[in-house]
Amino acid sequence: MATRTVHAVCSHDCPDSCAVLVTVDELSGKATRVAGDPSHPVTRGFLCGKVAKYLDRVYSPDRLLYPMRRRKGVAKGPVQQSELEKVFERISWDDALNEIAARLKNISDEHGPESILPYSYAGTIGQLGYGSMDRRFFHRLGASQLDRTICSTTGGAAFNAVYGMKMGPAPEDFAHAKLIIAWGANIHGNNVHLWPFIEEARRNGAKLIVIDPYKTRTAALADWHITIHPGTDAALALAMMHVILRDGMQNDAYIAANTHGFAQLAEHVRSYTPEFAAAATGISAADIEKLARMYMAAKPAAIRMNYGIQRSENGGASARAVAMLPLLTGAWMHRGGGVQLSTSGAFPFNSKALQMPELMLASPLGRNARVINMSSLGGVLTEENNPPVKALFVYNSNPAAIAPNQSAVLRGMARADLFTVVHEQFLTDTADYADILLPAPSFLEVKDVQGAYGHYFVQISQPAIAPLGESQPNWWLFGQLAQRMGFPEACFRDTADELIDAALKISAPAFAGITRERLEREQRVSVAAMGADALPTFHAPTESRYGTNASEKFPLEMLARKADNWMNSTFANIPTHQTMEGRHLGPDLGLLEMHADDATPRGIRDGDTVEVWNSRGSLTLRAHVNGSVQPGVVATRMGWNKLAADGKGVNALTSERLNDLAGGPTFYSTLVEARRLS
Ligand code: SF4
Repeated sequence: MATRTVHAVCSHDCPDSCAVLVTVDELSGKATRVAGDPSHPVTRGFLCGKVAKYLDRVYSPDRLLYPMRRRKGVAKGPVQQSELEKVFERISWDDALNEIAARLKNISDEHGPESILPYSYAGTIGQLGYGSMDRRFFHRLGASQLDRTICSTTGGAAFNAVYGMKMGPAPEDFAHAKLIIAWGANIHGNNVHLWPFIEEARRNGAKLIVIDPYKTRTAALADWHITIHPGTDAALALAMMHVILRDGMQNDAYIAANTHGFAQLAEHVRSYTPEFAAAATGISAADIEKLARMYMAAKPAAIRMNYGIQRSENGGASARAVAMLPLLTGAWMHRGGGVQLSTSGAFPFNSKALQMPELMLASPLGRNARVINMSSLGGVLTEENNPPVKALFVYNSNPAAIAPNQSAVLRGMARADLFTVVHEQFLTDTADYADILLPAPSFLEVKDVQGAYGHYFVQISQPAIAPLGESQPNWWLFGQLAQRMGFPEACFRDTADELIDAALKISAPAFAGITRERLEREQRVSVAAMGADALPTFHAPTESRYGTNASEKFPLEMLARKADNWMNSTFANIPTHQTMEGRHLGPDLGLLEMHADDATPRGIRDGDTVEVWNSRGSLTLRAHVNGSVQPGVVATRMGWNKLAADGKGVNALTSERLNDLAGGPTFYSTLVEARRLS
């Protein structure tokens, strides 16, 4: 069999941005194998479990392959795969684009262009797929702008406040560390290419400490798993600073040369004693002292912090406090020392040229459009707004499953007067509400350029196979739509190569000499690495065991976790991935993991069907009484609503309350109660 090998890049929302070698059968044009590129210094020849089985997703019989329109008279709501043809009818791209353009034009004329809301996130993190022609289109239209806060904004703002940029030790440098703290970071589950470097460090005597309220795969493999009450990370980090300064262990020379505001910080942390933090975090004062001393003594000491700690009400303060720790110790001086949240600050792609925000001035608005926080979608669709949202255009996201306050989101999406377009690979919970459904390609089918948030290589991804069916990338779709709307600007006719050139056209030193032609030749190029102040304060989240919203009615803190074998809601419908996650095909009860101290008084035993609820909603789950969580904490996992027996997902219980920095969501500040049903 004659085959060729194509270099692609995994564009899923994951720090590792793996280099993928795709074997393609020359005769059929079909991909027959995907593998990690052994020559990539971080991918090192392997892929995670999710993408190792990627061809099951690409060639799934459930892929959406053609544009479709909701049949007349069919109400919006959950659709099973077998009902697809009953609910939607196949149409041509021409008909789909003409209809969308006409509807958007009418809505804009009648209610103003801000009544149109794009909704997208990181379904793909390639530059073209993530944000290029789509932004140009919505800017030119004058549509509401979406504040894309749902994942990383708060942590990014925290790093910008402390360091002015988002960077950290390269993954390869973790091999040199003598102590690694995984803080809210399930490295083994969803940053697996860092793991070999940690193993190498451990072979050389390093210790791994995991700070996490949940016993993740990473925690189970650690030298020390410190369980912490959700949302209290700031208290722990501030108490570590207290111990370091109380005992004079700080690196004064480093602090004097490299920081501002040390005197204020020193004064500020005086009240954060280990005893105070013990009461907040549930970690003993002795363990907090021990942790601070271990952190000080180890050289180099690396912290891998992940976005989990920012997803509670005090998340911004938590992220800033943890980010400050290496500044007291001077850990940055040692190769492998410091703190890594994201390396994305190393990639100065020219987003202005790609997205052209100045086009808003050419829109009917003639000014910058209003901004809507994506974590508030439920309220935006169901409460009064001026102008009201009358059209929702969803791509790269599945808000019906992943947005907080799910019942409001679904109520809003079910509105008959809301015109909804969804660009997707599968019939997701969001696709169920589409008026027009458009087929999207996988990363094997498109060209793109991509940085990373877990390493320092910029890469080009080549299309390995032709798009399945009639699927088209979103940059093509929005260029076509712009032309049908009559937008005269030439930028709407840019090709993929022209968009890649625009992304790379920047004078920043990190991108010096990096061109599309060079990336086509070399596949990847390493970018140069490394580059405010306010004092973070610990407040117990209002919706937590110590918060002002604590109540006897809802005493359990709930972790709305991500599954290990899918990515938020992506992959949740693929049978192989369900099997890996221990789920069964078809409607199933999700798990409610709990501690025996909480289960026993409620008469709940392992395997019982339970209801978990709060004032926002309820879920029916199966109790799993195991060692994954501490007393007072329960955990359940995100997935597709319609694959759950009760048709609901974990966000039925989360709130739209925003956190303390950059408007991030508070998935991990959620109180619930549970009871046995059977
Ligand atoms: S580890 Fe991340 S980047 Fe690599 S293949 Fe898996 S999902 Fe993609």
